[in-house]
Amino acid sequence: MVDSHGRTIRDLRISITDRCNFRCVYCMEPDVRFAAHEALLTVDEIVRAAAIAESLGVRKVRLTGGEPTLHPHLSDIIAGLAVATKVEIALITNASLLSRESLRAWKDAGLARLTISIDSLRPDRFARMTRSSSSPAQVLKGVQLSLDEGLTPVKLNAVLIRGFNDDEAVALAVLARNFGVEMRFIEYMPLDSAHAWDSSKWVSAAETRAAIERVFPLIACGDDDPSSTARTFRFADLDGDSPARVGFIAPVSNPFCGACSRLRITADGKVRPCLFSTTEWDLRSPLRAGATDTELADFLIDATWTKQPGHGITSPDFVQPERPMSAIGG
Ligand code: SAM
Ligand code: SF4
Repeated sequence: MVDSHGRTIRDLRISITDRCNFRCVYCMEPDVRFAAHEALLTVDEIVRAAAIAESLGVRKVRLTGGEPTLHPHLSDIIAGLAVATKVEIALITNASLLSRESLRAWKDAGLARLTISIDSLRPDRFARMTRSSSSPAQVLKGVQLSLDEGLTPVKLNAVLIRGFNDDEAVALAVLARNFGVEMRFIEYMPLDSAHAWDSSKWVSAAETRAAIERVFPLIACGDDDPSSTARTFRFADLDGDSPARVGFIAPVSNPFCGACSRLRITADGKVRPCLFSTTEWDLRSPLRAGATDTELADFLIDATWTKQPGHGITSPDFVQPERPMSAIGG
């Protein structure tokens, strides 16, 4: 699948639920409304959409949400994808519900790797940011369990918000060293359900990197896939083959739209060619109306063709999409 700007789609992100047990301040307001259950794609619909996308060149599927581990049939989704496709299956989670048993079941079903979000190591602040009863200790336990179960490479994600956790860049970077994983800092994007994003709360990747480098000098890895969202660095004081890395995802200060290889499907079956699309393509209707695989493939090809050249966050006419991140799938 190629869009009208010559970009090839290789990565599909499927939100399998818009529900979440957290209400992160930069993502979901406490009173956010969820889609009706019957509006959400079923396990079979998710698997079929992914298989058709694979026939069009998709090589990776990341399951997201909302919180995908809340889905009662997550193992079936993973197993269905593993049977129907050869795509790499990844999952992103807030890690509040991970257990050795669930991780093992997902791995046995075909899950390849995990990304875990952690924004603060301070319990009080973690609670304020996520508006949940979980804790950093719980998340870190999930990181260790994921490593133990071989769901590697495990990656960690953090969003720094000024006035909340912008003083934790170094402490979070230390996680990369302690666990031997990649810790990625994502710039806060205007995708919060409160529509409260403003540049005064935003922390640039450059500022985060400078804070880390004051303690741990970094060296660019220089081997990033051009379509990857992250620019990765290793620690100058560690061996070159250490898996500890820091990554910066800078959609606001350094957009990577020109090399974007992603397509998204929301939990209610809308195709979004861009995270910031204001137009959606309703895949659920043809899926439920008996469309053939060829018709669905044509639908995905047509939707992809409309992928916008960039998100334009910093342009004066930028319009924040109606859907927050939790309803799109990050
Ligand atoms: N609930 C899971 C989690 O938090 O990992 C998966 C879904 S969440 C929407 C996926 C990723 O999007 C998380 O790493 C989260 O930090 C990020 N995210 C959510 N809202 C964001 C925003 N406004 N700007 C930047 N990243 C955001
Ligand atoms: Fe839930 Fe993830 Fe959004 Fe936090 S970032 S509210 S964990 S979907």
